[in-house]
Amino acid sequence: MKSKKNILITGGAGFIGSHLCKALIDLGHNVICLDNLYTGSKKNISNLIDNPNFEFINHDIVKPYYRKNIDEIYNLACPASPKHYQYNPIKTVKTCTIGVINMLGLARKNNAKILQASTSEVYGDPEIHPQTENYYGNVNTIGYRSCYDEGKRCAETLFMDYKREHDLNIRIVRIFNTYGPNMTKNDGRVVSNFILQALNNENITIYGDGTQTRSFSYVEDTVAGIISLMNSTEYDVFNIGNPNEMTVGQLAEKIIKLTDSTSEIKYLELPNDDPKQRKPDITKAKTKLNWEPKVNLDEGLAKTITWVEEQLSR
Ligand code: NAD
Ligand code: UDP
Repeated sequence: MKSKKNILITGGAGFIGSHLCKALIDLGHNVICLDNLYTGSKKNISNLIDNPNFEFINHDIVKPYYRKNIDEIYNLACPASPKHYQYNPIKTVKTCTIGVINMLGLARKNNAKILQASTSEVYGDPEIHPQTENYYGNVNTIGYRSCYDEGKRCAETLFMDYKREHDLNIRIVRIFNTYGPNMTKNDGRVVSNFILQALNNENITIYGDGTQTRSFSYVEDTVAGIISLMNSTEYDVFNIGNPNEMTVGQLAEKIIKLTDSTSEIKYLELPNDDPKQRKPDITKAKTKLNWEPKVNLDEGLAKTITWVEEQLSR
């Protein structure tokens, strides 16, 4: 394999995608970022836009796209926050199915490797804990989260069928809750909500009683895991996340402390089908990819808080 690759990243102007674009440019590759700017923004890639190894193309993956000489595709295009993926649920399903078929077709024509950004949401409201890759999940097919959960499950199926039918060189990464700079302000996700509320000394909105758990991974760790999987010889499914599990209530207390905020907790209704617990088992990634997260939560939150403060002061 040549050392300087032509890499296409869909969703490259989004939160995780923008860090992935930067990391791959820093590794010396050419990066083509395909994004319809639905939840992403040119601001996230403003540091790359003048780089001769970087190209931005405004394109919706639900429409076919053709280009020659692509070595690798990272398919991240898809809104990730519940607020955004539920805003136009039919479009979310199209992005995860028609969009995915378009990208698999592009990979096939180029004989390129292709990686799918899947999600811990394929486990739904999990009955086994922590979640291992061989768990089939517990997903509601007809709920508000289904457009995303089932969309991502179908995308995994499509990836495996292209592997079996066409011997396509595929990778699937199940990403667990990730946070860090470039998270969209007001996208409704817990870390960005709590940090903004704490910095503004507004009420911290906990949905439900705050005993539900999540495990939060700093974006640099998530991106390193995704790249390790693409570069490995493994082709099947890997969990990438940080097993440091905590309750949403504990996260609120931590953010209040780190921001020295006077915010108080306000309890609101729990959204439908909100998973009660989530923690990745990352044994497979540790042993087969030699990857594990390095940034602890206090360190990652401190960096994220500094970034949000900078944005607010502009
Ligand atoms: P994001 O919403 O910030 O980024 C998604 C990007 O995809 C945006 O730039 C958006 O404009 C673009 N996009 C959406 N639909 C598109 C379409 N039809 N055509 C072209 N571009 C389109 O989300 P993120 O947090 O960066 O997530 C990136 C990927 O990782 C998503 O596929 C998501 O499902 C997955 N993921 C993220 C997390 C997380 O915690 N952030 C967890 C699990 C999985
Ligand atoms: N959550 C919350 N307050 C908020 C935003 C989210 O209590 O202001 C909760 C949400 O109900 C869920 C958890 O935090 O239990 C993580 O939510 P997020 O939307 O970040 O991710 P996901 O539910 O997809 O894991």
